[in-house]
Amino acid sequence: MNLPGQDDTPLFPKPVTVAQPAAAGIVVLKHDCEVVMDAEGALPTIAVCHALGIPLREIILAAEIGGVPCYSVQQLPLENALPPTLQTTNLRAFLNRQTSAWRQAIIRALELATWRNEHRFCGCCGASMQLASDDGSLRCMRCGFESFPILSPAIIVRITRGEHEILLGRNRTFTTPFFSNFAGFVESGETYEDAIRRELREEVGVEVTNIRYFGSQNWPFPHTLLAAFTADFASGKIHPDGEEIAEAAWFDVRKPLPPIPQPGSISRRMIDDFLARQ
Ligand SMILES: [Zn+2]
Repeated sequence: MNLPGQDDTPLFPKPVTVAQPAAAGIVVLKHDCEVVMDAEGALPTIAVCHALGIPLREIILAAEIGGVPCYSVQQLPLENALPPTLQTTNLRAFLNRQTSAWRQAIIRALELATWRNEHRFCGCCGASMQLASDDGSLRCMRCGFESFPILSPAIIVRITRGEHEILLGRNRTFTTPFFSNFAGFVESGETYEDAIRRELREEVGVEVTNIRYFGSQNWPFPHTLLAAFTADFASGKIHPDGEEIAEAAWFDVRKPLPPIPQPGSISRRMIDDFLARQ
């Protein structure tokens, strides 16, 4: 798909509701777990949605790229059938096709929509929450409680042994079977390093050393900030937990690998980085 301003850096203004959105602005709209596209495979504009009579509830300015606004709206109710000129596509695959600027903008729009949807009412007193125009928070109209856009920290770690071996696991819940690095959410009170050691003990029964930062990726399922690390195998015998990890093994990267994550994910970048060192 061709989106305008692909090479521009996205601007992330404070999330504010927009009474009169620009007709050419792009709308990120979820329908079930999929994202809505027009017939050409591009995100629809505000003008297209209006022309088709698509109900857009609470339009929030999420990002701007090359002067093009990118709007977030609350999820389209499932009972609303899409007009035939619109279609939906798998969100993960869609994100993996985007340039990094648009990917960031779309992820922000999705995460803001999730946050807004999950904080319609105050968790302290139950009154309605509204977007504040000054600091981009959601604020309770009765008690003043504030909620800011939510991110959940998680780790993903690449484990290697020597110069050629990588430990990969197959998650039991993957709909398409493939092997990947190990990931999990950081629990309250933990550091990233604690979470890495705990996850690996729990999921595959191994200990690691020499943990190093690799990079990060925002991932809207539903609002994860994934911090990626590399580590060296220290000890342990591989023992998949059978709950999250169905299968795990050492792979010699000089030989053909099993199916691995699609390009675009940080997990794939970490595997590619190891392959490039051979
Ligand atoms: Zn309240």
